[in-house]
Amino acid sequence: MAGLKLNGIKKRYGNVEVIRNVDLDIADGEFVVFVGPSGCGKSTLLRMIAGLEEISGGELYIDGKLCNEMEPRERGIAMVFQSYALYPHLTVRENMGFGLSLNKTPRDEMERRVNEAARILKLEPLLDRKPSQLSGGQRQRVAIGRAIIRKPTVFLFDEPLSNLDAALRMDMRMEIAKLHKDLGATMVYVTHDQVEAMTLADKIVVLEGGVVQQIGAPIDIYKNPANKFVAGFIGSPKMNFMDVTVDSVSAGRVTVASSAIEPVAIEAKGFAVGDKALLGIRPQYLRQEQAVGAAGAMKGSISLVERLGTETIVSFETPSNERALAVIPRDEAFEAGSGIEFSFDPKSAHLFPAA
Ligand code: ADP
Repeated sequence: MAGLKLNGIKKRYGNVEVIRNVDLDIADGEFVVFVGPSGCGKSTLLRMIAGLEEISGGELYIDGKLCNEMEPRERGIAMVFQSYALYPHLTVRENMGFGLSLNKTPRDEMERRVNEAARILKLEPLLDRKPSQLSGGQRQRVAIGRAIIRKPTVFLFDEPLSNLDAALRMDMRMEIAKLHKDLGATMVYVTHDQVEAMTLADKIVVLEGGVVQQIGAPIDIYKNPANKFVAGFIGSPKMNFMDVTVDSVSAGRVTVASSAIEPVAIEAKGFAVGDKALLGIRPQYLRQEQAVGAAGAMKGSISLVERLGTETIVSFETPSNERALAVIPRDEAFEAGSGIEFSFDPKSAHLFPAA
């Protein structure tokens, strides 16, 4: 097992810098997830760690060794791809053992490792099948098995669950979490799915435009997003952002209001009276109870109601035509077109600069 260190890592394609100065420490045995929207550079960053992309600047250390110029197979890593990348004419057993047969591992050792991986991944009954005779989830387990067999110091996963349907994705997510616990291996995992990031990671790295926006434990990032981008990206449904103006500032509390929102004091820094700002409040934290007259109370007109059984998602529009969502933690037959009022605990709200 091994840790990783990225020092000012950069990637340029021609004049375009797609990864800018990434500094990151990954401890031995840590599960780190790179998350961000499509095109933010997460696969490029992972592929540089794997040695599949040249590093344009900075230093990459794996297990304390400088790896910038090292061949992929010398890095002690194993990568699992979204596309599984299995050989169609080989059986599960042969696919899993393929890497070992290339480097001339003795036959009994290879068999032992294949059987061990098959046991961990519950692939034993499928060892003699070809990939075409497997479901998507089983194929991905074979791809993971092939990685395990190589006994890598670091596992790299590039969107491994994206080709699976929602139910299977959830099962495989749990299997990967269990695998991490059982193997205690260092894992770096790329996804655009913030639920995968939240549930799997010890540490999340949020990327946007090739720049690290925030690094931290999932729940810390959720509770204390560093900026509006992170606040909007992590959490589902997305955080509401409402235009407000700063009315007063005192002792770390900033009182904001708008024509749609009653004055409310939020803990925040760096704002002055008259500033435009964005009030961020998650849909789960909007409450109907005691809304009238409460700090931060807002009125709206219901535009859409989604009844999911245990909760109801209400889309509403404020008198100043801002749209927002509220998640009501019960089933209720709200009616589109009718009025609704919400308030929130100021401690659950965030304030971001307007620009
Ligand atoms: P993600 O994995 O977050 O979706 P990528 O790492 O694949 O993003 O890509 C990051 C950025 O680099 C994107 O803007 C993409 O268009 C660009 N890019 C990727 N590969 C190349 C390439 N070979 N040449 C030029 N630009 C590329």
